[in-house]
Amino acid sequence: MKDLIILGAGPAGLAAAIYGMRAGLNLFVIEKFSPGGQVMNTYEVENYPGFVDPIPGWELVSAMENQAKRLGAEIISAEIQSIAHDTHSKLFTLALSDGKTFQAKAVIAATGASLKKLGIPGEDHFYGRGVSYCATCDGAFYKERVTAVIGGGDTALEEAHFLTRFASKVYLIHRRNEYRAAKILQDRIASMNKITPVLESIPLSINGEANVQSITVKNVRTGEISELSVDGVFVFIGYTPNTSYLPNELLNDKGEVIVDMQMRTKIPGLFAAGDLRCDSKRQIVMACADGATAALSAYDFIIENS
Ligand code: NAP
Repeated sequence: MKDLIILGAGPAGLAAAIYGMRAGLNLFVIEKFSPGGQVMNTYEVENYPGFVDPIPGWELVSAMENQAKRLGAEIISAEIQSIAHDTHSKLFTLALSDGKTFQAKAVIAATGASLKKLGIPGEDHFYGRGVSYCATCDGAFYKERVTAVIGGGDTALEEAHFLTRFASKVYLIHRRNEYRAAKILQDRIASMNKITPVLESIPLSINGEANVQSITVKNVRTGEISELSVDGVFVFIGYTPNTSYLPNELLNDKGEVIVDMQMRTKIPGLFAAGDLRCDSKRQIVMACADGATAALSAYDFIIENS
């Protein structure tokens, strides 16, 4: 039996592991994929304090992983399926998809969020053949080719900017006439002549034969439908929290975990940290802070209940 099990090895889970290990807790981390979370797909991070110059996402999060491991944290590769809480013993039983179960006095859910899909014809069909959700991973395939980026948030603008390293042209398709992204990112792309904004427009379908050849868009103000010739479509329209294994009573209507300032959920001993929690600004530094807070709260909980 463990003091603490941490679910997810992104920045929130790794920070929780670092703080938990330093507090002397007997813990391990469960991660479905390889450690790192969404930051692994971020080409450069320029707003994580402590680095004068932008740092590649993988490098930042690998340093977090190595730091947690140096302190003795073990990271197990598995997928969480459900969590049961025994109100009498106050223990948690975690069921994993490989059939194993583990018990712990406290749990931190830090399983982050997954990219949202458009749900339009062609999106699934051309996935890996022109449709992508990661410019850092796939951008280099579009050297001197035409691409479209969907979305108007920080991710869409950052990734559109990144794609200009390779693509000859990037259509930036956004459903409103103003971007949601930070002003610094808007200013950055405004001066880039490789980026062509297609505002007040929604994609209707992604078309092609073997690979993507075009995207059909509708101007939501005029109703005009047009077809843009593109070789690749990159979708960045936000995230949905990875919380399907948690009881509904812990979630809000967006599927996010409701927590207080100490990252406590409604169930004593169960904490949540990072992009899956309500009111998260979804920044790496905040995910780390959440993870540290959750680990310290878990420590207090374990001491008070032992
Ligand atoms: P986001 O901020 O939720 O933006 C999603 C964008 O996609 C919005 O512009 C939205 O349009 C659009 N959209 C949503 N559903 C759509 C649909 N079905 N069809 C077409 N467009 C759709 O997501 P994000 O950009 O991935 O950012 C997520 C969070 O991470 C944010 O809090 C962001 O600040 C943070 N982040 C920070 C950094 C950084 O600090 N460097 C980098 C990346 C992300 P509307 O604007 O009309 O809603």
